[in-house]
Amino acid sequence: MKIYVSVDMEGIGGIVLPDQLRKGEFFYQEGRQLLTNEVNAIVDALLEAGATDIVVKDAHATGFNFVPELLRPGATYLMGGTPIPNRFAGLDSTFDGAFLIGYHGMAGARRAVRDHTFSSASFQYVKLNGREVGEIALDSHLIGVHGVPVLLVTGDDAACREAKEELEGVAVYETKQAAGRHAALLKAPQQVRQEMREAVRAALAGRGGCKPRVIPGPYELEIRYTSTDMADGKYCDGVRSERLDGQSVLHRDDDLVRLLARAL
Ligand SMILES: [Zn+2]
Repeated sequence: MKIYVSVDMEGIGGIVLPDQLRKGEFFYQEGRQLLTNEVNAIVDALLEAGATDIVVKDAHATGFNFVPELLRPGATYLMGGTPIPNRFAGLDSTFDGAFLIGYHGMAGARRAVRDHTFSSASFQYVKLNGREVGEIALDSHLIGVHGVPVLLVTGDDAACREAKEELEGVAVYETKQAAGRHAALLKAPQQVRQEMREAVRAALAGRGGCKPRVIPGPYELEIRYTSTDMADGKYCDGVRSERLDGQSVLHRDDDLVRLLARAL
């Protein structure tokens, strides 16, 4: 059994403040430890369940957040900058499923820890074929082009809700209940890690009900930027990319990966 695990940071147990998420901030090193310990619990659970190939991608910000020395042997870890065409390096159609761990609600989601879509600074919202999407949906599509289904999504209650709306049959595990953008009712991280093992087992058992996230083309991606100068910086030929208003640009393409690589 081959499983690909993409790990963001905002939805990890014990994480709630921006200071835990950014290099150089006071609580960042503690955030990295929480992240790495949760990754280890998942790798342990996957090995126990009989996974033979496990690739774990560090998907937050620079892609270098895991503490390498603390990582469990038995998996391969993708770390460092991976722009969209290579976002899930090592993933191919031979994988049985993927996990999205530590994810968060889309930009503008109400009561969601660190709601954003790729960049809080740049994007007010992103719409794919007219429908608002966040990172759970977009990453599921980028995984779906390989014919691989997402089996498990973890994060706060907003992330779990979003996953259920987006992905039929997906298993979810709630690490915390959001009480605001920078506040949550937390479970102890040690409890999260214990319960995560059960969530991994349940997700693998239910994998028959999950399908790769695929929608037919052509594709349109509308991006509303936080300010007009960001939209000004996008070249619009009126065909492949069209300026809709001061802050919004619509990008079109027949190929979804090419579209996302160009637009995001
Ligand atoms: Zn992140």
